[in-house]
Amino acid sequence: MTSKKFPVLVTGGAGYIGSHAVLALQDAGWPVVVVDNLVTGFRSAVPYGAPFYETDVGDGETVRIILRAHNIGAIMHFAGSVVVPESVENPLKYYDNNTARSRVLIEAAVTEGVPHFVFSSTAAVYGEPEASRVSEESPTRPINPYGMSKLMTEAMLRDVTAAHDLNHCILRYFNVAGADPQGRAGQSTTGATHLIKVAVEAALGKRSHVAIFGDDFDTRDGTGVRDYIHVSDLVAAHVLALEALVEKPAVSMTLNCGYGRGYSVLEVLDAVDRVSGGQIERRQEPRRSGDPGELISENAHVLATLPWQPRHQNIDEIVSHALDWERRPALAPVS
Ligand code: UDP
Repeated sequence: MTSKKFPVLVTGGAGYIGSHAVLALQDAGWPVVVVDNLVTGFRSAVPYGAPFYETDVGDGETVRIILRAHNIGAIMHFAGSVVVPESVENPLKYYDNNTARSRVLIEAAVTEGVPHFVFSSTAAVYGEPEASRVSEESPTRPINPYGMSKLMTEAMLRDVTAAHDLNHCILRYFNVAGADPQGRAGQSTTGATHLIKVAVEAALGKRSHVAIFGDDFDTRDGTGVRDYIHVSDLVAAHVLALEALVEKPAVSMTLNCGYGRGYSVLEVLDAVDRVSGGQIERRQEPRRSGDPGELISENAHVLATLPWQPRHQNIDEIVSHALDWERRPALAPVS
């Protein structure tokens, strides 16, 4: 266990995964400072006790002032854009938000001597994998701009780490879903596109139906298969990664974050029906561009590297927490 706990800057801390990370860091005793431009995040999602700056990570000058003012010892970088189909339609947005602005943030870290950097990457860096489960050594050949925009940031981080006094942990997320089991945070994204969020909205009558994008993939039932990971397990891995970086400043890591098993779209919708006790209307639609058929993690590396013990692997539990959050009344705006 790390004894000295310094302030951690969380970018995107008003967003879905970032707000859960802030809670997990605070639960573990780390002081947290949040930066978020509130384009997709919510001020009200920033947990109590975390100083908040409405700032874009691409504003290097302001970020440097914040790093200095709070004596930041590590950065957890969540801010970015996350919708695969949107990245296909608007690639420059993704190369700006996920790549160019990350470059500015990394430069600020180097200039201010911040020694540790944890980066939100994605399984989309693997593209359409040859094997059914992908390990960190699998080839990285993104099939959409989202994956490429994150892979480019990974490459920058590795080069910067080799040249400067910084170590990093790149976490490649599989499909993140669910909400804080204590109900303190959840996914509030408007116009959501991710399957479990869309499906729980439909289960509660907030949408008329769920589209099934493609039934002709080379998978067990023809629909897309993904490795859904509970957001609380994911952010627990971040806190452990930070502790590992602090303990071994000469070591950097790239780790898959998934459970190593997959569910098809139909299996996810079955789980939502089971948990909600209803029946969502399903509509078959063509494949979305940029969607691989199957993406499942090989997670032996993260299990061997960090003392990570996933606690919420059950798909019904993931769905149940997502539903609990979705049932809450909308958060009151904070001025
Ligand atoms: N999907 C679907 N209907 C939806 C949203 C997603 O059929 O409304 C499918 C999608 O084609 C993929 C899987 O669900 O096979 C997960 O997609 P999601 O957008 O949640 O995450 P991604 O894997 O694209 O990051």
